Amino acid sequence: MVTSSVLGFPRIGAKRELKKATEGYWNGKVTAEELLQTGKDLRAHNWKLQKEAGVDSIASNDFSFYDQILDASYLFNVIPQRYRDSKLSPLDEYFAMGRGLQREGVDVPALEMVKWFDSNYHYVRPTFSNTTEFKVNGSKPVDQYLEAKELGIETRPVIIGPVSYLVLGKADKDSQELKPITLLPKLLPVYAEVLKSLVAAGAKTIQIDEPVLVLDLDEESKAAYKTAYEYLAKEVPEAKLILTTYFGDVRPNLDAIKDLPVAGFHFDFVRNPDQFDEVVAIIKDNQVLSAGVVSGRNIWKTDYAKAKEIIDKAVAKLGSDRVIVATSSSLLHTPVDLENETKLDPKIKDFFSFATQKVGEIVDITTGVNKPEDAKAAFEANAKSIEARKVSDVTNDKAVQDRVSKLTEADSKRKSAFADRLEAQKGLNLPLFPTTTIGSFPQTKEIRVQRNKFTKGEITEEEYNKFIEKEIQEVVKFQEEVGLDVLVHGEPERNDMVQYFGERFKGFAFTQNGWVQSYGSRYVRPPIIVGDISRPAPVSVKESKYAQSITSKPMKGMLTGPVTILRWSFPRDDVSQRTQALQLGLALRDEVNDLEAANVAVIQVDEPAIREGLPLRAGKERDEYVKWAPESFRIATSGVDDKTQIHSHFCYSDLDPEHIKALDADVVSIEFSKKDDNGYIENFSDYPNHIGLGLFDIHSPRVPPQSEFEKRVSDILAVYPKEKLWINPDCGLKTRKWEEVRAQLTNMVNAAKQFREKF
Ligand code: GLN
Ligand code: ZN
Repeated sequence: MVTSSVLGFPRIGAKRELKKATEGYWNGKVTAEELLQTGKDLRAHNWKLQKEAGVDSIASNDFSFYDQILDASYLFNVIPQRYRDSKLSPLDEYFAMGRGLQREGVDVPALEMVKWFDSNYHYVRPTFSNTTEFKVNGSKPVDQYLEAKELGIETRPVIIGPVSYLVLGKADKDSQELKPITLLPKLLPVYAEVLKSLVAAGAKTIQIDEPVLVLDLDEESKAAYKTAYEYLAKEVPEAKLILTTYFGDVRPNLDAIKDLPVAGFHFDFVRNPDQFDEVVAIIKDNQVLSAGVVSGRNIWKTDYAKAKEIIDKAVAKLGSDRVIVATSSSLLHTPVDLENETKLDPKIKDFFSFATQKVGEIVDITTGVNKPEDAKAAFEANAKSIEARKVSDVTNDKAVQDRVSKLTEADSKRKSAFADRLEAQKGLNLPLFPTTTIGSFPQTKEIRVQRNKFTKGEITEEEYNKFIEKEIQEVVKFQEEVGLDVLVHGEPERNDMVQYFGERFKGFAFTQNGWVQSYGSRYVRPPIIVGDISRPAPVSVKESKYAQSITSKPMKGMLTGPVTILRWSFPRDDVSQRTQALQLGLALRDEVNDLEAANVAVIQVDEPAIREGLPLRAGKERDEYVKWAPESFRIATSGVDDKTQIHSHFCYSDLDPEHIKALDADVVSIEFSKKDDNGYIENFSDYPNHIGLGLFDIHSPRVPPQSEFEKRVSDILAVYPKEKLWINPDCGLKTRKWEEVRAQLTNMVNAAKQFREKF
C-alpha cells in the first residue's frame, strides 16, 4: 500500500490567529502564556485536521512563532553574543533575533532576513561567528512531537538538514573570513543529539530538509553531504531520515546524495517532473520514495489523473510499500482554507485548492492508488473540475491569445535608439541632476479611512474622487515647494501596487482570507491570475492626467511592471510564465499609450521584483527568463514616441546591470543608500542610459543632512558622468511621515542645486 504525507501545514491559522497573538505579545497586550497557548491550539488544530482527513504521515515541528530557520538557529545555539548580552527571556531573545528590539537598555537590530528560495517567504539568516558554540538549546522538536503524541497523533518531525542550514547562513560581521560550511564537524554532534532525542521519544521517521540541493552548489558543500549523513547514520543508526528536497531539479547534485545512508528521499515532481527517471534511479532496495505530486506553492486544484500517473510509475518501479504520496513542499506557501472564501464566483472557486483542500487531495490520490473503487467519485469530480477550467471562458480569451501570438520584434523595441530619444525629450526642460521621487507619498490614516469608507459604500464615488483630487493637489503643491523637477501624483488611490492593477485587469481573482506568511507576523494576500489578461479600461489615467493639469512641471505616470505583477500574484499553472508576462505587457502597453495620449510625458513602470524572478540556478530556464522578462517590459513601454520618457525602478535586491540594460528604459532608479560597497556602483558604471541611485533610506525616519547627500553624490560622480545622474530616494515614501519627507527631500534637492552650481 502507498501511504500519504504532508510536509508541513501553514501555521498562521485560518483567521490569522498567530498574527494577533504575536503582535499582541509584542505590544504587551498578550502574555507569554497566552501566546504559547495560541501556538499549542494552532498545532492541535492542524494536526487533528490532517489526522481526520486520513493523512498517514503528518509533520510536527513545522510550527514556528516567527520562522522555522530561526527556530533551528535557536535550537543549535547559533545566537550572536549581542542578543545574549541583552539578558532577555528566552522568548524575547528569540524574537529579538527575528525582528530586533529597542527598549530601555536594549538596542539590537534584527538578523538579516532573506528570501526563501524563489518564494515570497523570508527566513532569518543563520549568522555564524568564530565564537559560535553549537549546543542543544531547548527541546522544541521533541516537545512538539510529544505534544502531538499526547493528542493520540503520531507525527513525523521535520528539521532543516545540516548542509542546507549552513549553506543558507552567513558569517557575522566579526568573522568575515569564516565559511559556514567549514563548521559542519562542529555542528554534526548537535544534530546527532537532537535526532537521538527524537528517536528516544518514539519518532519513527524524521523529515530532514535539504532544499539547497536545487541550487548550484560548490564542491565543498556537495562533499559535505557524505560527511554529514554518514556521520549521522553511524551515531544514530535508529533514526530513519527522509532526505527532502523541493522547489526544483536535483539532478545536477545527484552525485552528492546518491549513496547516502538514509531511509528515503523526497523529490518535487510538481516543479520538476522531468527529473523522475534519474532521481528514482538512485533509490536503493531499502529506501523509500516520497513523491511530491500536490503543489505546496500554488492554489490550483491538483489534476488527480496526472498525479496518479506519477505515483503509478513509481509503484511499478519500487513496489507500493516503498512509495509515499506527498505534497511537493510544505503547504506553508498556500492559504489555509478555501472554505473561508464566500465571495468568489463558484465557477472560479472550483479551480482552487488551499492547504486544507490539498490535504484532502493527498488522501484522495493515495486512495485512488490503493483502492481505486473507493476514490472513484472523487476522481470523477476532480476530472470534471480540471476540464471545466481548461475550457472556461474565465481561463480563455481568444482576443488576448491572438494578440500575443501576433507579437513581433518591433513591438518590443522603441522607435529610436536612446541617444535620439534623449534629444526628443529635451522638451521636458530638465536641469542637470534632475530630482524626482519614486511614486508614493505618505499614506496617512486619513487616506486609509476614506478608502475603507468608499469600499464599504459609506461615501459615494464622487466624494471619494474629490478626496483623492485633494490629496493629489497637496502632494503636487508640496513637491513644487520643495523644488522637485519631475513630480508624481503620490498614489493615494492605491492600496497596493499589484492589487490595484490586478483588480482593474481582466484575468484576476481576489480572496478575502487567502493570507500567506511573508515573514514573521507579516502576511500577504496575493492576487490570483485565473485567465488571459487584458485591460478593459484605463486604470491610472484619470489621476495622472489630473495631476499633470495642475502643474507646469512634468508629471510622471506610475505603473507596476509585468514581471512584478506576475511575481507577486499566484500565477497560472496551465500556461508559461512568459505567456502571462507578455499578456501583462500588452495590458500595460495600452495603459502606457493612453497616458501618453493624455499628455503625461514621463511614465515610470516599476519592476522591483525583476531580480527575484531569476531562476535559482544557471541553465535553460534562467537563459529564457533573461529574455522574456525584459521583453515583457519593453512590450509595455515601446508603443510610445521618442519624446515620452520611460522610467523604471528597482529595489529589494542586488541587481545585475545586464539585466536592466535589456529593459532599455530612458531612466532607471535603484535602491542604493544602504549599499556601502563601492563595487556595486562600479558594476553600473557603463550603464548606457540615465540612472538615479537612491540617496536615502525610505525605511528610516532619519534625515540625512545636506552635507551627507553631497558626499554621496560626489562618490557617485567619481564613477558616473554628471549628464547621466538623477537625484532621488531609494523607493516610495508611503511608510514615512510628512515632516520626515519634507526634511529629507529638502536636503536632497538642495544638494542637487549645489552640484548644478558647481558644474
Ligand atoms: N511606485 C511605487 C512606490 O513608490 C514603487 C514601490 C516599490 O518599488 N516597491 O510606492
Ligand atoms: Zn522600490
